[in-house]
Amino acid sequence: METKTSAGVVIWLTGMSGAGKSTIASALVNRMQTFALHATMLDGDVLRTGLNSDLGFSEAERSENLRRVAHVAALFCKEGFVVVAATISPEPEHRESARKIIGADSFVEVFVDTPLEVCERRDPKGLYRRARNGEISQFTGVDSSYHPPTHPELTLRTEESRVEECVDQIVNYLTRTRRTLNLV
Ligand code: ADP
Repeated sequence: METKTSAGVVIWLTGMSGAGKSTIASALVNRMQTFALHATMLDGDVLRTGLNSDLGFSEAERSENLRRVAHVAALFCKEGFVVVAATISPEPEHRESARKIIGADSFVEVFVDTPLEVCERRDPKGLYRRARNGEISQFTGVDSSYHPPTHPELTLRTEESRVEECVDQIVNYLTRTRRTLNLV
């Protein structure tokens, strides 16, 4: 299938661990590919195993982690990709700095709004259990804070909407606001 060219965009998913960012990002990349768009996912957890494996979870290291993710996203975006970044990015400053690096016109902040108790009940990687047992520290929602966006472009409530419905909401948003994307 021939791949279409289009202006790039970065969908920046933010939310706590277990909120559903990676799951939604992966489904969104699949959906974008059905539109024959170049799309790629930047999963914060995956990047921490390679590009960012030298970084921990202190405030300075989280900022550096997200600075690198934003620069990689910006490179793909300039090439016309739909980039779906899935990182906790717990502070407004992280998200604002990513918006500046990427360029406000290409940046879509999506809050994956899942309450802590739901994230903790899901605990897909067993990280909350380990954090509560004191095996890992500086864990967002346990001993490190998460400051939700106040004006995200979009908010997804994963308790109310299934994964594909969350993807629909993003696609609908893009269809409404990004006429340069070939979402047909
Ligand atoms: P994160 O990337 O935010 O840490 P994950 O995507 O790894 O979160 O895990 C989220 C978990 O929640 C998965 O097990 C997923 O199947 C589940 N889940 C349940 N409902 C939803 C939904 N509507 N959207 C996304 N994930 C959901």
